[in-house]
Amino acid sequence: MFGMLFAMVEGYCVKCKKKVEIKDATTVTMKNNKPAIQGVCPICGTKIYRIGKAS
Ligand SMILES: [Zn+2]
Repeated sequence: MFGMLFAMVEGYCVKCKKKVEIKDATTVTMKNNKPAIQGVCPICGTKIYRIGKAS
């Protein structure tokens, strides 16, 4: 399942201080083997991580 991209994923941008749709979202595995989503903020380009699988 890893690497599959589903629908839009929302994440919290610390720079914009609001929820945004994560751009270029990809599923990654963190050091503790937990799934996470990594992408960038569509507004400011800051990297966003969200813990958990894409739903
Ligand atoms: Zn942002």
